[in-house]
Amino acid sequence: MNKRPLYFDYAATTPVDERVIQVMVECLGFDGNFGNPASSSHAFGQQARQTVEQARRQVAELVGAEAEQMVWTSGATESNNLALKGVAQARGVAGGHVITSQIEHKAILDTARQLQDSGVEVTYLVPDADGLITAQAVSDAMRDDTFLVSLMLVNNELGTVNDIPAIGHLVRERGALFHVDAAQGAGKVKIDLAEWPVDLMSFSAHKLYGPKGIGALYVGPRARPRLLAQIHGGGHEGGLRSGTLATHQIAAMGAAFALAAAAFDEEKALIVRLRERLLDPLLGMPGVRLNGSPTRRIPHTLSLTFSEGEFNSAALLASIAFSATSACNSASNAPSHVLLALGHDAHSASRTIRLSLGRFTTEQDIDLAVHLIKTACASAPAFWQ
Ligand SMILES: *Cc1c(COP(=O)(O)O)cnc(C)c1O
Repeated sequence: MNKRPLYFDYAATTPVDERVIQVMVECLGFDGNFGNPASSSHAFGQQARQTVEQARRQVAELVGAEAEQMVWTSGATESNNLALKGVAQARGVAGGHVITSQIEHKAILDTARQLQDSGVEVTYLVPDADGLITAQAVSDAMRDDTFLVSLMLVNNELGTVNDIPAIGHLVRERGALFHVDAAQGAGKVKIDLAEWPVDLMSFSAHKLYGPKGIGALYVGPRARPRLLAQIHGGGHEGGLRSGTLATHQIAAMGAAFALAAAAFDEEKALIVRLRERLLDPLLGMPGVRLNGSPTRRIPHTLSLTFSEGEFNSAALLASIAFSATSACNSASNAPSHVLLALGHDAHSASRTIRLSLGRFTTEQDIDLAVHLIKTACASAPAFWQ
């Protein structure tokens, strides 16, 4: 078997934790919990329903929400679609104004374009030099007809953390709804939806050691009457998202979020240690810099630009799996829209890599990665045009 590269791409997806796999498998076979959670008249359905509701509590608990405020979706992409389209359509009038930013995930940017096609005006805020969206920038962009602001908690390429509570307060003052894409933040940043002025929040399981294909949308009390379903057929999830609930996926997401809650402090300390071990030697190399705020960030995700000497990220990818831009942009091979918004040109963006750490990263992985990166930069001709 070929030796696999080191995995430094936890921000793209995580492996499913073995403990989560166990929970998931138990919801599949005839001897397991396979019933349809909507079959309320018999024991199979009732047992599945209990499992679904327990998972809903587990997901809500990690982020300080009430269980009944969580709507199951197929992932953060669907949650983002439901939030943006659902709020725009519920208004029942054309036009209006939405605020988002240039450095959102494509699941927001592409959905915002759809809103524009249907007559909504959209402002795409420019991040500051640290990769942050400031409350001031949001305040300056607010209009009388702004009905929704959508910003991410943690940026997937930079790892920077927006001040969501501060932004939320001013959005609420102006009467608009506030949606937050927290796919990269859950389990890494302490989220308290009981206190935060946020109306809608998107989550995904596979960024937090759960399976792909399952996520949730938090729908707070201000948003509930102002949100229209996007998927119809049976009225599941309080009419907000129809379709037979995927018990195995949901139970797994619940287990993954519960594990993240239990290990929160310990895991954070581990990642901080590993981050220092990785970053110190790399920042010691000439021409290497960290993109995004040095302080308002999670320790897991590092965007580094190598501006001096040879740098061949394609060769390095044979031994280290990292993101050359972001996994979602790599398909299109275009320079990262996040780096361009931060003022990089295409050349500098092509010399930027995202290294992301996670639960299964070891000190040996870090030391080997440092060695491989240093060697890749040193072995090359000493010129670059
Ligand atoms: C991964 C990601 C998404 C998409 O989530 P899926 O569950 O894969 O659909 C959306 N937003 C951000 C910030 C992400 O990192």
